[in-house]
Amino acid sequence: MSRSQYTGFVYECEAKEMVKLTGDWVDVATTAQEVGQYVHSWNAGKQKEFQENHPNMFTKANTLKADYLVANTMIDCLQNDPFAMSYLEGEKERILTAEMYGAPWKIMMNVHSIPSRRMVDLMTTRSIIGKVWDEAVHGYVSFIELAKAPIKAAIYAEVERLAMGRAAEDWSEFMVVAVSKEKYPDKAVFNMTNPTRIAAELATFEANMPRIIALKAGLEAPRRCEKCNYCRSTKVLSQVIQYSVG
Ligand SMILES: [Zn+2]
Repeated sequence: MSRSQYTGFVYECEAKEMVKLTGDWVDVATTAQEVGQYVHSWNAGKQKEFQENHPNMFTKANTLKADYLVANTMIDCLQNDPFAMSYLEGEKERILTAEMYGAPWKIMMNVHSIPSRRMVDLMTTRSIIGKVWDEAVHGYVSFIELAKAPIKAAIYAEVERLAMGRAAEDWSEFMVVAVSKEKYPDKAVFNMTNPTRIAAELATFEANMPRIIALKAGLEAPRRCEKCNYCRSTKVLSQVIQYSVG
C-alpha cells in the first residue's frame, strides 16, 4: 500500500485505482503537475535524470520550455531562502516500509532528518493562501486539505514510527515546505505535527483497510465514481436523463 493508492481508493475512484494497479490505466501528467515534479527532482538532486525522462519539457539546449519556466523561479525562490532550505536538509527520497493494518506499506519521504526526527514534504501548489473548491466536502478548503496532506502526515508518521521501531504514538515531526506556481512564487513552512489528527486519521484507515484489501484480492467489485477521467472514458449510456430546470 502507498499513500496515493489509499487516497485513490478512499477519496477518488475504486474502479480507476484497480485499473491503475493492473497497469491498464496511466494518468498523463498535466503541465502544472510536471512543473511540480521538476521542482521535486531539484530537491532530490535528480534534475539530470528528470530531463532525460521528460524531453517534452526541455529545449535542445536542455533549458526549460516557456510553459515550464516557472519551475526555475520556484526553485530560486526556495534556494534564496535559508530558512526554507534549512528544512530541506536531510536524507532525500528515503523509502521506509512497515506492516500496518493488515497490509505492507511503503512511503517515500522527500526529506528525512534523523537528528531532528523530522519528515518534510515538499509541496507545490497554485496558491498557498487561496482556497479551492473541494467537491467531496462541498466547500472551499486550503491546498493542504485538498491535497489530503493531513492524511499523508498520519500515514507517514505511523509507518516511520513502525519502521524505526519506536513506541506507540511516539511520532516524528511532519513538516510541509510549500512553494506556489505563481509568477512571483509564495512560500511557507507548515508544521503538520498533530497527534490528535494522526490518531483520528489512523482510526479511519483501520476502518477503510479491510475493503481495500478485499478489492485488491479481487474479493469485492470496485465501485465506479462516474466522475473521473477513467469512468468517463469507459461510460456506456443506457438511459435518458429527464431534464428539469435547475
Ligand atoms: Zn471513476
